[in-house]
Amino acid sequence: MKIRIIKEECIACGVCADIAPEVFEMGDDVALVKIDEVPESEQDAVREAAESCPTEAIVIEE
Ligand code: SF4
Repeated sequence: MKIRIIKEECIACGVCADIAPEVFEMGDDVALVKIDEVPESEQDAVREAAESCPTEAIVIEE
């Protein structure tokens, strides 16, 4: 699983980094993806983060 964040959509609310801190971190004004390939153990958390993102800025590319 790979993911990316649509920077123009991200409002830096911090929800994704709260849900999946191994995968997301907060930059100055957008969330950043810390890893290139999401390991199996983090995929549920990533899906939850994507569903929880208020602006649907997290794109999952299976
Ligand atoms: S949950 Fe969505 S809007 Fe909030 S910081 Fe993460 S990517 Fe940005």
